[in-house]
Amino acid sequence: MLEIVQVQEDIDDIGGLEHLKTWLIRKGKIFHHLDHAIKAGVDLPKGLLLVGMPGCGKSLAAKATGKLFDVPLLRLDIGKLFGKYVGESEENMRKALKTAEAVSPCVLWVDEIEKAFSGIGDSGSGNSITTRLFGKFLTWMQEKDSTVFVVATANDISTLPAEFLRKGRFDDLFSVDLPNREERQKILEIHLKKRGKYHLNIDTIQLAKATDGFSGADLESVVKEVIENVYIEGRQLVTTKDLLMVMNQTKSISASLKEKIEQIRKSMEKVDIKPASIQESSS
Ligand code: ATP
Repeated sequence: MLEIVQVQEDIDDIGGLEHLKTWLIRKGKIFHHLDHAIKAGVDLPKGLLLVGMPGCGKSLAAKATGKLFDVPLLRLDIGKLFGKYVGESEENMRKALKTAEAVSPCVLWVDEIEKAFSGIGDSGSGNSITTRLFGKFLTWMQEKDSTVFVVATANDISTLPAEFLRKGRFDDLFSVDLPNREERQKILEIHLKKRGKYHLNIDTIQLAKATDGFSGADLESVVKEVIENVYIEGRQLVTTKDLLMVMNQTKSISASLKEKIEQIRKSMEKVDIKPASIQESSS
């Protein structure tokens, strides 16, 4: 139900999502000086909800938050809370939240929250357990005075109950869209640098222009494939041409999951939610 995640990723491993990173750095400052901040009248940070496109850095941001705050990262799998006996699921939820509080200060990452809490309010015994669990989680979020910082991630929030998205549960909600051109350039550079293959002759501006509609995960997989090709061919340097060739053969998420992407975008338009990215400059 609750797993400790070993984190390697830090905030500089995230390409783009600048609004979100600035926000996290502010919360990190509070988290690092909690007693001082509370004495100064600052509220305890509660957490955030990250909503949006698959493969665009939501989980990466959840992991980097643990590292940035310098606290353990716990991952809660709500699907595993469901038990077959009466009251078992609620008891599991109570235990999981209590454990997180015992470990605190910590970051509690609740992944794919919409999958666990969709269909609430529908009839059926399964749904009444989900509704009760959801109620328990909401109350805990609302009333908690522990230093458990919740990072919830979701793709499509159209199935989530409105009360979940209301102010007061989370400090803020951020939408994560497909990376814009500048973000794609940064993501490519991050993944090339990570593997020691970045050099100034790689035209990442051209590559970013050629990858409209790619997710961060798509870009990472292109970099991985190119580096493997270059190795197999016994070469040292990755070139712009190598990258362009694999990019041209890659079906981006926008092409392979066109309808899902549209649906996620529509669901984000319906709620008051801040973009995690800064708008692309016109240059
Ligand atoms: P899902 O909704 O499917 O869980 P997600 O948004 O949580 O997707 P991640 O797991 O964060 O996606 O991304 C998958 C991988 O793609 C990351 O581990 C990272 O290597 C790469 N990636 C995605 N977005 C970015 C980004 N903005 N900067 C750098 N790398 C990225």
